[in-house]
Amino acid sequence: MKRSSKFKVQSSKFTKLREGDEVKVVLRKDKGKTGKIEKVFPTDGKVLVSGVNQYKRHMKARSQSQPSEIATITKPLPVASVLLVCPKCHLTTRVGYAIEDNKKRRICKKCQQVL
Ligand SMILES: [Zn+2]
Repeated sequence: MKRSSKFKVQSSKFTKLREGDEVKVVLRKDKGKTGKIEKVFPTDGKVLVSGVNQYKRHMKARSQSQPSEIATITKPLPVASVLLVCPKCHLTTRVGYAIEDNKKRRICKKCQQVL
């Protein structure tokens, strides 16, 4: 008997990254920087990493009592531009999955530890 899969094909935007993961930026202006993921945007395939991909925006003065200021905004990055930093072996790694106790767990492909 052949079971047909009801799972949708995972798109290339699919990410195994989660909020709280430490990542290293490998592309763009912040290459080499590390930071923690603050938010994951699965539909956009983007992640917001604290302290990374920041832009300064000059806010114009609206009145004399409210002077102009420079606001720092953090923009999300495409998931393809970051790599997970394994909390166990501290290397940048790809995430794999392993089934343990009937549960799907994330594993580091370098040290094989459950993340
Ligand atoms: Zn590891």
